Amino acid sequence: MSHTTPYQPLVDFFREKIFHYQREGLRIFASSSFQTHSIPMLHILSEIDNSIPVYFLNTGYHFSETITYKNEVAEQLGIQVIDISSPVPKINQRDKQGNLYFTTDPDYCCYLNKTLPMEPVLAQYDVWISGVRKDQSETRKAMDYEQPGKHGAMRFHPMLDWTNKLIFQYIKDHKLPRHPLEDAGYLSIGCEPCTMKMATLLENDRSGRWFGLNKSECGLHTDLIQNK
Ligand code: SF4
Repeated sequence: MSHTTPYQPLVDFFREKIFHYQREGLRIFASSSFQTHSIPMLHILSEIDNSIPVYFLNTGYHFSETITYKNEVAEQLGIQVIDISSPVPKINQRDKQGNLYFTTDPDYCCYLNKTLPMEPVLAQYDVWISGVRKDQSETRKAMDYEQPGKHGAMRFHPMLDWTNKLIFQYIKDHKLPRHPLEDAGYLSIGCEPCTMKMATLLENDRSGRWFGLNKSECGLHTDLIQNK
């Protein structure tokens, strides 16, 4: 691959940071939601060191296409993907009226299915890599490359300044697979009950998530915004 590609300095920065953390003896992990725009980070990471584990929060509410895509990407890139899920069974994820929490209290649903299962993982590591980007939402514009995180694991955001254009150029240059639902009009794909097709109404890529609710983050990243 040519070193003149516009994303190469960002790839080099990512690699140098990982090598630096490894020289320091820090324990590193990544998390991914396995969407099309997740793939450049996973591909770069696999080329730096494919033994760095990648955690996938399996909420039980994902599209079946996401699970299939995750398995295909893991095999193609040779990365170690670890599924984690809530310690609270779905039978106990209902309000007093018997409704599943995602219908009445999505913040609590995200807490049970995303924040809670991540806590024991954070306790095992020093650096948490995630693929958040500034151009995904207004709230993410305020994030930094490195930020303190909960339970002592520092947050590292190597994709922060990647744009949609760079992401798709990287995917094209490296012939990486795309999430099958993208062609069906979904641009940001999370849990099935909380994701809408938003190809025409977009303010930003994540506008189709929790549509109509005053909510734009899943709980994994809200502490970073509150810290600012
Ligand atoms: S995105 Fe929706 S279904 Fe998924 S954990 Fe959050 S509230 Fe629940």
